[in-house]
Amino acid sequence: MNAFNPIVHIEAATIILILALLSLKLKLLDRGGILASIPIGYVIYVFGGVDYFILLLVFYLTSGAATKLRVRQIGKDVLDKDSIRGWRNVVANGAAAAIISLLNIAGFNRGRVTAAYLGAVGTAFADTLATEIGLLYPREPRLITNMKRVLRGTPGAVSPYGYLGGTGALLILILSSMAVGVTDLRLVVATMVSGVLGMTIDSVLGATIQSKYRCVICGKLTESRVHCGTTAEVVDGISIIDTHVVNLISTMLGALIAYLIASA
Ligand SMILES: [Zn+2]
Repeated sequence: MNAFNPIVHIEAATIILILALLSLKLKLLDRGGILASIPIGYVIYVFGGVDYFILLLVFYLTSGAATKLRVRQIGKDVLDKDSIRGWRNVVANGAAAAIISLLNIAGFNRGRVTAAYLGAVGTAFADTLATEIGLLYPREPRLITNMKRVLRGTPGAVSPYGYLGGTGALLILILSSMAVGVTDLRLVVATMVSGVLGMTIDSVLGATIQSKYRCVICGKLTESRVHCGTTAEVVDGISIIDTHVVNLISTMLGALIAYLIASA
C-alpha cells in the first residue's frame, strides 16, 4: 500500500512544496488557499496515488490559466470575487476529491473509487470552466430555473458557452485520465455524465438555495458577502449556503452519480 511507503510521503511533500511556492509566485492562490491546498493535495497524492494527483493538477492549472486569461480579456469585476483563489474555494473544490481518495484504504473497489474521484474533480472542473467561458458569452445568460435573462455572474445563470466550457473541461479530464491509464469506457461515460449533471446541479442550487446579497452602497446584486468594502444584505436564499457550500454539495453529488454509474 502506497500510504505506508515512506518514499511516497517524501515525494508528496517535495512535489507539494514546489507547487505551493509556484502557486504563490504565479498568484494562483492566496496564502490561505496555499495552506488549504497542502493537506488536500497530500491526501490525494498519498491515498489516491500519483495518477489521481496528476488529474487534480490538470484541473488546477487549467482553471488557473482560464481565470488569468478571462481577467486579461474582460477584467475581474464581472464576478465580484478575487481572481486569486482563497481557502474556501480550495476546500469547496478539493474536499470531496480528498475524502474519496481515502476510500482506497477502506477496501472499496478501486475502479468505482476512481469513478467517484473523476465525478468530483469533473464537476469542479466543469463548473469552473463553465463560469470562465460563460463570461465570454456576448448575450445575457438565462437563469436555469425559469430561463429568464439575467445579468452575467448571477448564481444559476447558464449559457451555451458555459456548457461548451464545461464539456471542454470534461474532455480534458477524460483525455488526461486516459493518458495516466486510470480510465476505461465505463468510467469515460461516468465522468462525462456526472460532470454535466454535477455542473447543472450546481446551477440549480445556485439559482434556488444559494444566498444572494445586495450591496448597501452601490445597490448591485451579488453572490459575495462583502461589496464596495462593506457587508452586503441578504436578499434571497439561505444565508449559510454560499457559492462555496453549493460547490461542495455539487462535487459530492457528482461523485455519487459517477460511483453509481460505475457500479451499474
Ligand atoms: Zn457595491
